[in-house]
Amino acid sequence: MNIIFATGNKDKLVEVREILSSINKNVTVRSMKEVGLDPEIVEDGATFEENAMIKAREVYRAAKENNMEDILVLADDSGLCIDCLNGEPGIYSARYLGKDTSYDIKNQNLIDRVNEEGKGNRKAAFVCAIAAVFDDGSEEVVRGTVEGEIAKTPAGKNGFGFDPIFFLPERGMTTAELSPMEKHAISHRGNALRLMRDVIKKHENINS
Ligand code: IMP
Repeated sequence: MNIIFATGNKDKLVEVREILSSINKNVTVRSMKEVGLDPEIVEDGATFEENAMIKAREVYRAAKENNMEDILVLADDSGLCIDCLNGEPGIYSARYLGKDTSYDIKNQNLIDRVNEEGKGNRKAAFVCAIAAVFDDGSEEVVRGTVEGEIAKTPAGKNGFGFDPIFFLPERGMTTAELSPMEKHAISHRGNALRLMRDVIKKHENINS
């Protein structure tokens, strides 16, 4: 089975390979660019699930137009949802305060807003939806989450994006202070990928 992952992000691809290669020896995971696909995708869904499915369907359509066989197209959409900000930045996480604004500024802005508007509620969750379109055109979507709090001050250099302000109370540190392996073991994307691995095994009748 040829898994095509709808991303240009190399770090995501490494994580996807790590988790999905355990399905079966005959599974390969390549990015859409690696297989020569780059369809125009307009992510105008209202939820993480809708946006992930929009990407997966577009790449599936492009793959079939190019006569690709025995494929499984996967796409993800993720973001940070903050309780006291009605789930913001949510599906707009990548665009929050504009794509060119640094995460130092974005992260401090979210800390300030939670301090001002949260009335002590700092709860937040990272969410990741992963959509699949199988070779026969059937579709599945899963959601993985990890719960935490918005830190009072940013900490840590690992990860990316909002990791320095995503505090895990039970670990006493942010996700930017975890090693990549430690983060994958608990992250929204890791959790969604593990759920998707089970969905794929069921769909393909793989019992291992
Ligand atoms: P995308 O799904 O790659 O488009 O991610 C959307 C945005 O959500 C990213 O640009 C980050 O701002 C945020 N985000 C998603 N996952 C993470 C994470 O694991 N750590 C930090 N920020 C994340």
